[in-house]
Amino acid sequence: MKVLVLGAGQLARMMSLAGTPLNLKVSAYDVNSDTIVDPVTQQQLGTGLAQAIANADVITSEFEHIPYPVQELCQHSGKFLPNSTAIKAGGDRRQEKQLLDKAGVANAAYKIVVTEQDFYQAIEQLGLPLVLKSALAGYDGKGQWRLKTQADAPAVWADIQQFMAGADHTLPQAIVAEQFVRFDREVSLVGARNQAGDMVVYPLTENHHVSGVLAVSLALPGQQQLQQQAKQMFEAVASALDYVGVLALEFFQVGDKLLVNEIAPRVHNSGHWTQQGADTCQFENHLRAVCGLPLGSTALVRPTLMVNILGEDHVSPAVLSLPSCHLHWYGKGKRPGRKMGHINLSASSTSELAQRFDQLRQHLPEQEFPELDVVAARLKQLQ
Ligand code: ATP
Ligand code: MG
Repeated sequence: MKVLVLGAGQLARMMSLAGTPLNLKVSAYDVNSDTIVDPVTQQQLGTGLAQAIANADVITSEFEHIPYPVQELCQHSGKFLPNSTAIKAGGDRRQEKQLLDKAGVANAAYKIVVTEQDFYQAIEQLGLPLVLKSALAGYDGKGQWRLKTQADAPAVWADIQQFMAGADHTLPQAIVAEQFVRFDREVSLVGARNQAGDMVVYPLTENHHVSGVLAVSLALPGQQQLQQQAKQMFEAVASALDYVGVLALEFFQVGDKLLVNEIAPRVHNSGHWTQQGADTCQFENHLRAVCGLPLGSTALVRPTLMVNILGEDHVSPAVLSLPSCHLHWYGKGKRPGRKMGHINLSASSTSELAQRFDQLRQHLPEQEFPELDVVAARLKQLQ
């Protein structure tokens, strides 16, 4: 089967690598250059978007900020999975919040802000601190503001206005003002739903961020009560969207309760550990779902963690001498903070993983990997 992916980054690349043994041929639409490329080699394939849509058996997406006209074309072809309603809900925080409310899934209290009056009403109704997020085009913590005190309000509003003035005006922009959640930790659930409505979910993953960007994900056994709660929320959201493919839910954990932070209608960075830690990786399961193949087992085969390589195109090759340590590069040009690759580390138990992680840390400079001390301490706590 031929699969066209909208977006030609690392997620399309890893889908292509996972699809090859199944004889699935993946090509990708690079939104920036408006060309069709091989997502592994980045070689241009010489067809235009319309031709690629006609050639494909299935069209899917690796990110949610796809221009609406492109989404319409794909939706029109009848081959687009997940559907464009799901992609739009992931790319517009207003639609996302409405979806979560409709599905009856707990999320942070919020108010949509367009005018200055809305902004001050949000402060009054939701209280401080507030997290303000642009409705469109937000990712990796970009397009976000924190408002801690009333005295800072005029400056934050001025900043927001400046951001809105510079935004793409083809779609109405707005801000979602959210109550600040004092969470104990952040976790996420990645799962898949097929066309018949069958659903499978991976074990919950604990996520550690640096400056709003994912740094490390831990997939560990246990946590039955939370897993059940997350699974129910996943099923509610995926069913409400008539979703087909892999979907990720990011949560705040407060005590023993989960609140959905956001959804990602695609394979997700917090699911990269599945390449070494799960029976079937998220990339293969996404392709299986959209191609109408049976879903694969999502069972955790061994405790696994993932470390993102941000802004660096080199790590010591010695990391490959560690047992069950795997390096995945994305073949991208170096830029500060850019997701360049990741490391997956596995072990037969959490205590062995903690030991191996200590060995791995010796090869990763603290300046480039600032979160690793926190994760090491966390792993020792979890043993
Ligand atoms: P990404 O693309 O990396 O998922 P994003 O730009 O889509 O990021 P969010 O996930 O909404 O943005 O927010 C980034 C981080 O900011 C969250 O992981 C969390 O640490 C923090 N954050 C977001 N919303 C809140 C909130 N309401 N209360 C407390 N912290 C928050
Ligand atoms: Mg997020």
